[in-house]
Amino acid sequence: MSDVLEEESSAKQEEEERLQRELLFATHIVRAIDVSKTYYLGAEPVHALRGINFSVRRGEYVAIMGPSGSGKTTLFNMIGGLDKPETGRVFIDEVDIAALDSIELAWLRCHKIGYIFQTFNLLRVATALDNVMMPMLFAGMQHSDAQDKAVALLERVGLGKRILHKPVEMSGGQQQRVAIARALANSPSILLADEPTGNLDATTGLQIIELMKELNESEGVTVICATHDHKMLDLSDRIAWIRDGRVERFKKRSEITITEGRADARE
Ligand code: ADP
Ligand code: MG
Repeated sequence: MSDVLEEESSAKQEEEERLQRELLFATHIVRAIDVSKTYYLGAEPVHALRGINFSVRRGEYVAIMGPSGSGKTTLFNMIGGLDKPETGRVFIDEVDIAALDSIELAWLRCHKIGYIFQTFNLLRVATALDNVMMPMLFAGMQHSDAQDKAVALLERVGLGKRILHKPVEMSGGQQQRVAIARALANSPSILLADEPTGNLDATTGLQIIELMKELNESEGVTVICATHDHKMLDLSDRIAWIRDGRVERFKKRSEITITEGRADARE
């Protein structure tokens, strides 16, 4: 009798765990609702985002396409908590980031979000090791732990032999790898990559793309990547097209046909 009860309770527990997992995947890790942003060039307004709506599920790999000036970087800055929307809201893990105070926002940026900038934004006078250690030290990690983790991350991105090199002593691809290792320093759940292959040759670009895909698959890191690179589109779960500060289309990978130089949505 007790065996039957035990079996029932373990089946119940399994079902409960399955539902929890589904719920976790179903939740949106990022939601931008009606977000707008206007810059001013003198008195001239530039409407960078015009009420954009953009949601990403936990564990997704989303590519963002859009011509230069369409608002991709501005959107990333909103999601990354580097800038505030003029109107609308941004939720990270269902928390409205406008409701966070400066310490909470700094914590979120430090722990949850890894940001890979198009131009790397590495400290030029610091070694690769120091660049990668910095966010961990900022987060309060012990120096020796931060060093061990930075070395492991640099090895992971294929730079184990370059840890004491400074950015000026490295190629563009190597600098981008340092930027990726740095973005991963505090094990973020979201990786924002702003045209990460834009400044790289095709082979190096492909290696960077594969590295991000591997992180997405093996560690469940949610990847949001602005790109023009069709190799990246192919690996994405969904693709958003942004134009003039709005999402023009948002399609699953299975709904589009990618041909040389073009990605067309099947309607
Ligand atoms: P993308 O990343 O898609 O190239 P951006 O988000 O960088 O687009 O820019 C969107 C629009 O906002 C563009 O017209 C750009 O010129 C303008 N813009 C971006 N940053 C600023 C700024 N700091 N001051 C004024 N205008 C800006
Ligand atoms: Mg940009």
